[in-house]
Amino acid sequence: MIVKIGKAPDNDYKIEDAQISRYHARLSAEPQQTDWLLEDLDSANGTFVNGIQIVRKRITAGDEIRFGMNHHTDLARIVAAKNDYSEAFAALKPVYDRYIQQKIKIQSGNQFKARLFQALPFALPGVIGIVIGFLGKGNPLLFGCSLFVAICAPVVGIYFGAKQAAKVPSLLHALGDQFKIDYVCPKCGTFLGEVPWESLRNRQQCPVSSCKANWVRK
Ligand SMILES: [Zn+2]
Repeated sequence: MIVKIGKAPDNDYKIEDAQISRYHARLSAEPQQTDWLLEDLDSANGTFVNGIQIVRKRITAGDEIRFGMNHHTDLARIVAAKNDYSEAFAALKPVYDRYIQQKIKIQSGNQFKARLFQALPFALPGVIGIVIGFLGKGNPLLFGCSLFVAICAPVVGIYFGAKQAAKVPSLLHALGDQFKIDYVCPKCGTFLGEVPWESLRNRQQCPVSSCKANWVRK
């Protein structure tokens, strides 16, 4: 991909400034690569990266770029002239992966705890009943205790199991809310849905008709 920079109307990144040459500079990148090459096209007033005049230089997102004396810009703004949002889109892959991991963690963590709470009330009275049976040898008071435990323990277990299960929707809800903020088109901000990042990459561009941002470098 090449971004043509200058004052002439057929540039991609047009700059209306007396100090800017008609064809001032060009920015280029190989498809699927993240590094960019900025080249000055023998302009009258020069191209600068982080304050230093350049002829050809590889640049990254953090570099401060200046054309002539007055036009300050950066990589993202130049690339946006070509509707290229591939770098910001690539950053969404870890957002999706983390969301899925956390979702599974909440769901499986809940299953384990809920099962534990459900199993306890049935295991506990059995154990206590056997112990009391050994100790009491038919003592009616201890038999009463055993019966009490056998009734109480399931109630307590079911209560905690239900309480644990009730926490899950709110945890998932909070996770989903954050995901809706983070997993959006880098240009128009539209939520991309619970669609795997790889599937979106295959679409190549934003489906919103007013946006059409390129998610993959052409
Ligand atoms: Zn969009």
